[in-house]
Amino acid sequence: MYLKTLHLQQFRNYQEQWVDFLAPKTILVGNNAQGKSNLLEAVELLATLRSHRSTRDRDLVREGELMSKVSATLERQTGITDLSLTLRRNGRRTVALNSENIRRQMDFLGILNAVQFSSLDLDLVRGGPDQRRTWLDTLLIQLEPVYAHILQQYNQVLRQRNALLKKIQSSDEQSSEELTVWNEQLVSAGIRVIRRRSRAIALLAPVAANWHESISGSTEVLQVKYAPNVVTADEHLDELQQAFIEKISSRAIAEQHQGTTLVGPHRDEVELTINQTPARAYGSQGQQRTLVLALKLAELKLIEEVVGESPLLLLDDVLAELDLHRQNQLLDAIQDRFQTLITTTHLGSFDAQWLKASQILHVQAGE
Ligand code: ATP
Ligand code: MG
Repeated sequence: MYLKTLHLQQFRNYQEQWVDFLAPKTILVGNNAQGKSNLLEAVELLATLRSHRSTRDRDLVREGELMSKVSATLERQTGITDLSLTLRRNGRRTVALNSENIRRQMDFLGILNAVQFSSLDLDLVRGGPDQRRTWLDTLLIQLEPVYAHILQQYNQVLRQRNALLKKIQSSDEQSSEELTVWNEQLVSAGIRVIRRRSRAIALLAPVAANWHESISGSTEVLQVKYAPNVVTADEHLDELQQAFIEKISSRAIAEQHQGTTLVGPHRDEVELTINQTPARAYGSQGQQRTLVLALKLAELKLIEEVVGESPLLLLDDVLAELDLHRQNQLLDAIQDRFQTLITTTHLGSFDAQWLKASQILHVQAGE
């Protein structure tokens, strides 16, 4: 797929800006705090309806404005699509395809695919399990847009079950019939999440391991492993259901005591190990960066295979942080297959050939 144009209106520090992408590689160069990452964030929003920098829409709307709009023209094998997302300070959103409003988010997701790689992604290694779950969920939304709906349903059940557990906790009731109903809902909604996460990691893990081996140029083995909160030896539906129900009943007293749901995919983990050692405890920043790079390249390949279109790659400030060997590995992997948007504060870190093949945009104070 190819992003042809981007149009930002009252988005972050942009008032109004049109961008035409004239080459498969675009370098956005400028000093700190000028709007380079903001532009990448706009593309990320069109791809996932999420921003990894902010969860509140009012942060995205330009100061002093009530709403903002991000639009793009995208070329895919099936034709050209116009996408737009309108954000409001009050959190209400409107999405449109070819100027027609879309009611369900999942019909908008999966049109534009993008993999983002920024220095914040080091938190994938160093941060807590929630960060790895969010990463996996964001990938799944792109692989299978219906996942956005599945996840939303699970979170809704979780919220309602938690509210009930809180009520039980404060009223000293032992159990309730209502809870049984929510248990069933939790299991059926939860299983849909678990199976998709499991499938995605199974596909991603070998690709990431391969990349890791070739980038690090060593025999260190990267393992990406899904570690679900509800564990079964057998992934069959019946077994999973059984294991889930059993785990819920084994934690029933604790749940009612703590007033919160302790069992389910909201407690899943994705384990990252190198030679069996947890990656968090392992190695230098450079080694952790290598690991994240391997994950990101695996994401690109996975989206390409599942979706049948090459996703965009958004590189925010990471190129300069990689050594020359890793930079070249990355550039070789991208070639001209993936449209790439790169931010940097100085062009000095790029080799001449790379510069010659790129469109260079100077970003200053939101222009
Ligand atoms: P760096 O090199 O430091 O990463 P950058 O060019 O990537 O810089 P951005 O993060 O894109 O910088 O832009 C940051 C600028 O955007 C800051 O000046 C910030 O004040 C401004 N900004 C962020 N949100 C808004 C908003 N809602 N309204 C107006 N300005 C905003
Ligand atoms: Mg930035």
